[in-house]
Amino acid sequence: MFEVRVEKTIAAAHRLFDYDGPCESLHGHNYRIEVAYTGTELDRFGMLVDFTDVKKAFHAVLDTLDHTYLNDLPAFAGLSPSAENIAAHIYRELKQTPFARATLSSVSVWETPTQVARYSEG
Ligand SMILES: [Zn+2]
Repeated sequence: MFEVRVEKTIAAAHRLFDYDGPCESLHGHNYRIEVAYTGTELDRFGMLVDFTDVKKAFHAVLDTLDHTYLNDLPAFAGLSPSAENIAAHIYRELKQTPFARATLSSVSVWETPTQVARYSEG
């Protein structure tokens, strides 16, 4: 099994509703976000999937989130934009860009260097 991962950092603001803690107030994070694809067959270039193609799809989704107030986005209407919900949203968006040999495996969202939420359908 091969696995390909690409990561990127974005900045965004959010607040969590009805949460008894500091994340209830408006604040921001530099979110480190990673996508992972897996598969067993390589193409004639020896690649599971071209990093360039992954970055193109991944960055297109992240560009819709970067430097935004996440709570204002339709994707999070009535939903707290927690790291878990952000990961699930990015995963569902990336599912719309399938690759021949690489299967979308997971999306991970670090809110801080030591706290990460991961979404997968496995
Ligand atoms: Zn937060």
